[in-house]
Amino acid sequence: MKIGIFANDTPQTEQIKNQLEQKLIDRHITIDNTDPEIVITIGGDGTLLSAFHHYQEQLETIRFLGVHTGHLGFYTDWRADELDDLVISLQSDNGQAVSYPLLDISVTYHDENQARHYLALNEATLKRIGMTMGADVYIGGELFERFRGDGLCVSTPTGSTAYNKSLGGAVIHPSLDVIQLTEIGSLNNLVYRTISSPMIVPANDWITIVPNQASDFFMTVDQENIYGKQIEQIMFKVSKRKIRFAKYRHTEFWRRVQAAFIGDLNEN
Ligand code: NAP
Repeated sequence: MKIGIFANDTPQTEQIKNQLEQKLIDRHITIDNTDPEIVITIGGDGTLLSAFHHYQEQLETIRFLGVHTGHLGFYTDWRADELDDLVISLQSDNGQAVSYPLLDISVTYHDENQARHYLALNEATLKRIGMTMGADVYIGGELFERFRGDGLCVSTPTGSTAYNKSLGGAVIHPSLDVIQLTEIGSLNNLVYRTISSPMIVPANDWITIVPNQASDFFMTVDQENIYGKQIEQIMFKVSKRKIRFAKYRHTEFWRRVQAAFIGDLNEN
């Protein structure tokens, strides 16, 4: 069993990382950050997002596991005071995993012949710097609407509780192989019309966004911002690849949602 450790750079995390490393060494478990079988992240959901992109070419051979330093996250299950239990679970590992859908993004640029591919764990957005964004939206290859507004967001089920939720999107159970399209500040008047509702698209369908001719669009993929090239079109679909988590114990998805957004009902 080879374990990689991926931590954010706060002093609290550094301390937990050192403790974990020592516990792994004491139990003769190999630490290998280059070719790990399990990657343990220490931090928050943002740290797991970074680890996902760091190891994104090795998703088929890696399972992830998150230790949180603050609150129970959507990608993090273990508390920092549970490291002993965590190491015992690693020692009795039998390959158990739970997998979640990812978003496949394929972008073509006006000055390039070949599409570029990206993979998102949470979401991708398309926006325009400083001006209203105009774009045609196609579903399954058919023109669906002419969008005008601040931008568009396409998210995964596990990303549905992140930016998507702030945009009024639905919270989606990660057992569903779907992606969700949400609007960012759409214009709706006698001239411009959009659906104005989040739309959930199944795995056999796809969304294409064709922005109007302009060079100041930018795209985000999870934490990354991609600027500076003239986008011809972006195609979004449910990826054939998945992220896998080591499933030593399972926090039910709706319990996470409740804990993150509603909290203790007996407090008031
Ligand atoms: P950040 O701006 O430092 O933090 C974003 C917040 O979102 C953090 O509290 C993070 O949790 C939380 N988060 C990340 N993934 C989540 C998920 N799947 N479900 C629920 N909450 C989640 O940025 P970051 O930590 O680098 O994360 C990038 C993400 O920020 C993007 O993927 C996007 O979803 C989100 N974002 C949200 C908005 C918005 O809501 N208006 C705007 C831009 C970006 P932790 O504290 O546990 O890390």
